[in-house]
Amino acid sequence: MFLGHYAVALGSKRVAPAVSLGTLFAAAAFLDLVWPVLVIAGVERVAVAPGSTAFTPLDFEYYPISHSLLMSAVWGVAFGGVYFLIRRRRLPAIMLGLLVVSHWVLDAVVHRPDLPLTLSGPTRVGLRLWNSVPGTLAVQVPARSPGPTWGSG
Ligand SMILES: [Zn+2]
Repeated sequence: MFLGHYAVALGSKRVAPAVSLGTLFAAAAFLDLVWPVLVIAGVERVAVAPGSTAFTPLDFEYYPISHSLLMSAVWGVAFGGVYFLIRRRRLPAIMLGLLVVSHWVLDAVVHRPDLPLTLSGPTRVGLRLWNSVPGTLAVQVPARSPGPTWGSG
């Protein structure tokens, strides 16, 4: 889920207007910011496998440090904790931590069952929305506004 993470970040701006949009986006996308670093470092693995889902060819082979539910909670506590240390604002820090975890929840909707719960457990989670291009587009593409109203003359 790409746009969904940013939509949640935008929506949270109402809850915490003092937090910059960049910080909100970083929190919502944090797991995907960590993941490529770990892939490049050879710690986590992804393969390009056309057809692995209808929407994306990425086969997430191993990514428990960036994308397990357990570690998303750890990353959330770390992100919120660093924010709290810098800004000394408790509620925005908690909200930022929850935003980090929201990434895992939204990913669980779109991914096939490849999201781990823990670092080494066998359980994988995913509701497979990416197996449906129309379903994915319906969720990812924002609804159109009614647009301009044209006068009759
Ligand atoms: Zn992700």
